[in-house]
Amino acid sequence: MDNCIFCRIIAGEIPSMRVYEDDCCIAMLDINPAGPGHTLILPKQHFQDITAVDDATVGHLFSVARKIGMRAEFRLNADGFNIVQNNGAAAGQTVPHFHIHVIPRFSEGPDMVSWTPTEPADGVLQAVLEKLTAEEDA
Ligand code: AMP
Ligand code: ZN
Repeated sequence: MDNCIFCRIIAGEIPSMRVYEDDCCIAMLDINPAGPGHTLILPKQHFQDITAVDDATVGHLFSVARKIGMRAEFRLNADGFNIVQNNGAAAGQTVPHFHIHVIPRFSEGPDMVSWTPTEPADGVLQAVLEKLTAEEDA
């Protein structure tokens, strides 16, 4: 896609700091990292988000994400890492080319994506469960 910044990075038109590359994907440092070692894994083929990607590519990219996270633990002395993946503007996706974030975590930070746990009223969990497990219309 001509106007996709990540496609242009993959094509070499825009510079990137690549930590890994294979036939299917690249991993590069995020230009505005949450913290040291924040890395993005993206397929070389353009897909808007995870709903458009074939299972084999999803599996391969998550496998690469795991390796990058483990490398951050060994090489950067990270204490752990988060794998974050946003789909759609409402979910915080700003670049519409599927990608996975690997964010190394250290005892001193960075602050992490978080949510406030809620206590659903009676029946709310059951109602959601029924929607998520309902048979599709014939
Ligand atoms: P998301 O909000 O999940 O779509 O994440 C997009 C990420 O891409 C953000 O964390 C940006 O900092 C990062 N980003 C945008 N442009 C570049 C670039 N040219 N090189 C590296 N990372 C980038
Ligand atoms: Zn693209």
